[in-house]
Amino acid sequence: MSISAHDPEFVALKTLSAALGRDPHRTQAAGGNTSLKRDGILWVKASGTWLAEAEDREIFLPVALEPLLAAVAENDERAAKATDFVIAEENPLGLRPSVETSVHAVIPFPAVLHIHCVETVALVGRQDAKAVIAARLEGLAGVTWAYVPYVKPGLPLAREIDAVSKPGTNVVILGNHGLIVAAETVAEAGRLIERVSAALASPVRAAPTADIAALEALAEGSPYRLPADPAAHATATDPERLAIARQGTIYPDHVVFLGSGIAVLDAGDTPAALAARSPIAPMLIAVPGKGVLIHKEVLNGGDALARALADVTGRIPPGTPVNYLTVEQEQELVTWDAEIYRRALASAAKS
Ligand SMILES: [Zn+2]
Repeated sequence: MSISAHDPEFVALKTLSAALGRDPHRTQAAGGNTSLKRDGILWVKASGTWLAEAEDREIFLPVALEPLLAAVAENDERAAKATDFVIAEENPLGLRPSVETSVHAVIPFPAVLHIHCVETVALVGRQDAKAVIAARLEGLAGVTWAYVPYVKPGLPLAREIDAVSKPGTNVVILGNHGLIVAAETVAEAGRLIERVSAALASPVRAAPTADIAALEALAEGSPYRLPADPAAHATATDPERLAIARQGTIYPDHVVFLGSGIAVLDAGDTPAALAARSPIAPMLIAVPGKGVLIHKEVLNGGDALARALADVTGRIPPGTPVNYLTVEQEQELVTWDAEIYRRALASAAKS
């Protein structure tokens, strides 16, 4: 297939998606998703695929827009997975639509980009998120924005976005989650995402360097290893970052890839002992003042989320009241069929 292969807008979508996916400040691992509406078809990112790979393999699949929108309007559960609306004959790889497909459907612009931009996430985790964001976005030319407090991604989020959107809403800020921008063309959407991310940017707190030798000694003989990206250590070397991170989980993909929050190693304790006495071994351990360790069985993408935690918490000023996901909100993510599927793909990709 397809009509899409020669459509300049679709080529542009792939190029932009790959660029967003490769930038750890814009999105991480299999997070984020993009789409393009053409001739009644919603071309949307497949679940579990990485935006960074948009130019290397097929990550988009076609979904029939009208029946999906009708199902969203009726709160029909089939809209949640959207698998019933996939145009199977144009989906030779059998890809499954993103968990956010219904979100893309309800936004009436052709090009829709959803990312977990760390500048946005650092603000939407704050209890004063809406006021802080209003101060940054009001008066920005060509921006009509809406704010949606946290709801579970997928169908509930799509219905919430639909409810708060006005005609022309082209920026949707998602509490404890991320950013959506929409435009008539992919190029316009790309420019909008840069302008909004710049408007939402915060200064980054410096962090002391990690103590790699100490971390290696602690990891020796344990089920833990050093993170792939040394930027992840800042969560543990900066006491202000750790004070924020240790209180809970700020956004959904952290739970999906790394489990609840971060475990903190007490002085004199060891990662092996901590894992052995925990009902579920923590995927991410902070060793205060030294750095972080990652469980060797972490899902593919866990390293990117470990770095994101340092990037996000480093942009939240000390003492800022933060909204954490509740236990129930974390549970609904890990027991959600759509996320179990996405984690299974991440697990398969490791081997
Ligand atoms: Zn998201």
